[in-house]
Amino acid sequence: MSRCEGFDFVEDSFGRKIDYARVSLTDRCNLRCVYCMPETGVDKKECGEILRYEQIDEIIKALVALGIKKIRFTGGEPLVRAGAADFITQCIKKYNDIGFYITTNASFLGGYAKQFKEAGLKGVNISLDSLSLGNYKSITRGGDLYKALEGLHKAMECGLPKIKVNSVLIKGTPEGQLLEIANLTLNYPIDVRFIELMPIGSCAAFARENYMKPDILFDIMPGLKPVSPEDASSPAAYFKLPGAKGKIGLINPISCKFCHSCNRIRVTADGKIKHCLHSDEEFDLLNGGIREIILKAASLKPEGHNMEDRSITRDMKRIGG
Ligand code: SAM
Ligand code: SF4
Repeated sequence: MSRCEGFDFVEDSFGRKIDYARVSLTDRCNLRCVYCMPETGVDKKECGEILRYEQIDEIIKALVALGIKKIRFTGGEPLVRAGAADFITQCIKKYNDIGFYITTNASFLGGYAKQFKEAGLKGVNISLDSLSLGNYKSITRGGDLYKALEGLHKAMECGLPKIKVNSVLIKGTPEGQLLEIANLTLNYPIDVRFIELMPIGSCAAFARENYMKPDILFDIMPGLKPVSPEDASSPAAYFKLPGAKGKIGLINPISCKFCHSCNRIRVTADGKIKHCLHSDEEFDLLNGGIREIILKAASLKPEGHNMEDRSITRDMKRIGG
């Protein structure tokens, strides 16, 4: 690991600049997506085991001092945590050089979209795997599609910037359902990103059994044309349908690794730094100086991930994507 002249950003030992942190506010969620957590026996952290907002603020302060330029709040579902919207709003106002984003299932976004827009949130990723009531309900094990769509529409109506829909590719998904999601880009200025199903935690076996190659998207949308990404460090390869307002992204961590351009670290709700999504190595922020622990984690960031032979033990809802 080397620190650069002027101490304004952290570089890992492979020369990658680390300037993006994903910060999980909670491991809890109102949904139970089939690829993210088990249906029952969900292991929840008690309140005392989750970072308090003051502790998260201390961590953000340290991240910012180390040159982090972009922070994405995630979960579990970030907006189920009491006070989350106000905390996010305060962070946006306090650290005004930093771009703040959220990733959410949008069930509660409708109530906060205006507040986030006024505060200056830079973008929102919304998880939406189906536009069919029944399929959405079964993938999320009980979720209400109308609430998610209300969140999406409120985000657009309030003018939140950079709205992206994230959709996980699951074997057996009807082509029509994939097209319906992709066609959102025809009518709205939003991006839709299809994500390869990754084997993670207790859902690893589900992911291995239900992996679907992204190639199908080119078969069902032969008109897709490649376009340049806005952000070179984006893990997505972007395409567009003819006449579309938004782009279609493919995030292929399995078939097309993007580790060489990985610029991120993750902070879990229980106070661990993860330097790589697919590594079990974690660094406890509550066990020493925050700045030193962040630097150590960055210095040990692996060159690339390997999820072919083994998967990590922590569930996705306890990381945040
Ligand atoms: N609850 C929020 C949401 O769903 O947007 C934030 C947390 S969720 C863990 C973040 C992202 O991870 C979602 O877009 C979700 O689809 C994705 N995800 C969860 N498990 C996954 C898996 N096994 N493979 C690929 N993506 C996954
Ligand atoms: Fe909840 Fe997001 Fe996981 Fe679905 S993907 S269960 S919404 S944390």
